[in-house]
Amino acid sequence: MIRGACHCGTITFRIEENPDFLVECNCSICRRLAAWWVHSPPNETLTLNIPEGATDVYSYGDKSLAFHRCTSCGCVTHWQSLFDSRIAVNCRLAYPKDIKGIRIRHFDGAGRWEWLD
Ligand SMILES: [Zn+2]
Repeated sequence: MIRGACHCGTITFRIEENPDFLVECNCSICRRLAAWWVHSPPNETLTLNIPEGATDVYSYGDKSLAFHRCTSCGCVTHWQSLFDSRIAVNCRLAYPKDIKGIRIRHFDGAGRWEWLD
């Protein structure tokens, strides 16, 4: 199980089943956020606790993804697709012991759109 929270603790999440890996992407936004994503964990395994109005949203380009950040502490917690059910949770916000040992895979989102490992 992976548990995490933004810095101020307003937003919390839990992923019941550990993923095989976390994703570090080099695209224009991911490299700036330095996120470690878990992409679309099965719905029943993900709990995202977001109080009403607790996030601001950033979207760019074709506006297909909404990046959510805590309005209080600014941590980027997740993104959600605006067109389908895809979601990714930022496990940089996870408790270190919960993600210890989980492989980090590097994705070339800036270039060839393929794994770099
Ligand atoms: Zn916060």
